[in-house]
Amino acid sequence: MSEKTEKEQKKKDAKKGELGGKAEKVINLCLRRGILFPTGEIYGSFAGFFDYGPVGVEMERNLEAAWWNHFVHSREDVVGIDGAIITHPTVWKASGHCDAFNDPLVECRKCKSRFRADQLIEDELKISVDGITLKQLDELIKEHKLVCPKCRSELSSSKVFNLMFKTHIGAVEDDSSLAFLRPETAQLIFVDFKTAQFVSRKQLPFGIAQIGKSFRNEIAPRNFVFRSREFSQMELEFFIHPTKVNNCPFLNKHVLETKINVCTAEMQAKGGMGEVVEMSVKELVEKNIVKTKWHAYWIVESLNWFHSLGIHPENLRIREHLKEELSHYSSETWDVEYNYPWGWKELEGIANRGDFDLKQHAKFSGKDLSYFDAEKGERVTPIVIEPSWGLERTLFTLLLDAFEEKVENGKAKLVLRLHPTIAPVRVGVFPLMKKDGLAEKAREVCESLKKEFACEYDEAGSIGKRYARMDEIGTPYCVTIDYDSLEKNTLTLRERDSAKQVVLPVKALKETLQKLFSGSISFSEAGKPVT
Ligand code: ATP
Repeated sequence: MSEKTEKEQKKKDAKKGELGGKAEKVINLCLRRGILFPTGEIYGSFAGFFDYGPVGVEMERNLEAAWWNHFVHSREDVVGIDGAIITHPTVWKASGHCDAFNDPLVECRKCKSRFRADQLIEDELKISVDGITLKQLDELIKEHKLVCPKCRSELSSSKVFNLMFKTHIGAVEDDSSLAFLRPETAQLIFVDFKTAQFVSRKQLPFGIAQIGKSFRNEIAPRNFVFRSREFSQMELEFFIHPTKVNNCPFLNKHVLETKINVCTAEMQAKGGMGEVVEMSVKELVEKNIVKTKWHAYWIVESLNWFHSLGIHPENLRIREHLKEELSHYSSETWDVEYNYPWGWKELEGIANRGDFDLKQHAKFSGKDLSYFDAEKGERVTPIVIEPSWGLERTLFTLLLDAFEEKVENGKAKLVLRLHPTIAPVRVGVFPLMKKDGLAEKAREVCESLKKEFACEYDEAGSIGKRYARMDEIGTPYCVTIDYDSLEKNTLTLRERDSAKQVVLPVKALKETLQKLFSGSISFSEAGKPVT
């Protein structure tokens, strides 16, 4: 596409739909290819809940595995747990969720539709109102004469709405049987801290990780899976000795020199919500912009993980929470934000939860949740740094970042430049035609790869169509078996990103793929180029 046509296309895209053209296209792809789609569709809309289809579930599992591999298996200082979705209700009293896990709600006086007051104001006035009080929200609604977006009638004043889903345990449905679906996975980690530490024999500093479902009764689920009511979280609580929050052995010269896109609280106070400046980690730490070294380390480590999955670094920044915006448990929070088609928004949150949660659970349960410091012979309550990711939000972001549309011969072609680790199919295998033993040979090749790589055999339609089907779900490599394969035992390997092809012996395929996936060879070294 020429630069001019590309610009025009972008303008058109931006006008299309409230999410912006690219997001709409990615959502269409998700629906068409069964990656993610609204649950219970045959019964009509049921907002905020999604199902993964056959392609999506592979992406979901790959993403979970990539996260677990990076943050648990490849470290000596992190162990995992898998806690219950419904736990003792007092957990949520102690954590503060019963009292403080609220969003502001306004109701239309006429049609009774309900809206999240802060989002309604942000949508209408294009300003950020994070952390402001109910009274201030009401004043803004009044001052700007905001009305119900559906029927243009007057809105009620704002009131708090608790986001936890309620249920009842057992046969009696009264206050004594009331329980909650967990709104975050973190609390199970705090409640299990003592057990996990004892059985794993970990000494401070160390972390406990968990991946699992969380539930939030969002007033206004929106932007596809970005804000849903049921989603998975990938959370890590990292426990540090309270006097050693600045003793981080990983902040070496290389890490300190890392440059990061930053939006500080100070920049926001001056009205620069959308601004970004580049700073080194050294600057962030030395100027006390990020208050503790362990916090700075987890920020860098989070960004490194996103980069390792191929997210364009220029689309990421870290943003400091304003004081008014901080959750009740946090003394300092930095969000990793992505530049979505609807603006910079949170992709991951990294909070300093201090000793709030362990102390609250100790108080409410009457159990000692402190840690014995054998060196000093005293009991201490660890400080916690929590990086917390949403799985669906991360997957949606990876899809947005990897999505590319090309126009070839007047036709739009979609390519998902997904990292191979996340790709649902790693190798597509096709016979040129179904006849003359080509299909049998292709199946044989596919079978020989299956134990090592997720493969898909496809013999339907033209080769071009088969490549296109694989490109749009992000399959990094495709193999074609043709008549030369029967005669010379060779095959053609195609790379998704360059659409280039090379010929190589069938017997070299597995090893070549291993080398390509590990990055030890480039595609041009994989075989003889097809011109
Ligand atoms: P937001 O400000 O977007 O509501 P949050 O600050 O409430 O998010 P956290 O409690 O920090 O979010 O949760 C950690 C992560 O879980 C978020 O960074 C996000 O990726 C994910 N997450 C939170 N709420 C939702 C939701 N309703 N739907 C999908 N993912 C979510």
